[in-house]
Amino acid sequence: MKTILVVEDEPAIARLLRDYLEQAGFAVLVAGDGDAALRTARAAKPDLVVLDLGLPGRDGLDVTRELRRFFDTPIIVVTARGEETDRIVGLELGADDYVVKPFSPKEVVARVRAVLRRAEARQEATAVIRVADVEIDVSRMRVTVGGRTVDLTATEFQLLASLAREPGRVFTRGQLLDAVHGVAFESYERAIDAHVKNLRRKIEPTPGAPRYLQTVYGVGYRFVEA
Ligand code: CA
Repeated sequence: MKTILVVEDEPAIARLLRDYLEQAGFAVLVAGDGDAALRTARAAKPDLVVLDLGLPGRDGLDVTRELRRFFDTPIIVVTARGEETDRIVGLELGADDYVVKPFSPKEVVARVRAVLRRAEARQEATAVIRVADVEIDVSRMRVTVGGRTVDLTATEFQLLASLAREPGRVFTRGQLLDAVHGVAFESYERAIDAHVKNLRRKIEPTPGAPRYLQTVYGVGYRFVEA
């Protein structure tokens, strides 16, 4: 049984999440503040952490940073509506996904399942990535879409491979810039938008209505989950 650590200072929300996650077959631990969260994470080594960023005392982003210092367990951060900056900083500190309050507990359970699935897939270092009808042969740097070979630049290839390796995961522009570091010289996040535009022209059946490379408004991009 997988164990989920819920970090939430509002007892009613913590209880709701615990009920839904337990019903979905998870074991659930609850921590009401950042220090308790770090203690529990160290002691119990949960399989995933759902972390509210709006915590009393120690700041939620600080907790994310601390968690990342000692383990690579998936983290889903919870932010309030409108706190876009927190979302982006959370992702760049290493959170795997985010949900926005007010959320439905069912949505949280679905996210938990998706992130755990991705974490498992990440363990298997795959030479060939297959998502939807896109196939990426990493060692040969070859991409086909529906059997048709597509010519990509090294930067476009690196971008696409990074996104498609974890379908459904939202990447910020800053993270994608890191991903192409070594093949590109850009230092501006907006350069990513230009590469994505070119990639779409090459791989999307309808570039104006992307099927694979989706924009997550205000945050970044993701490759569609198959
Ligand atoms: Ca809170």
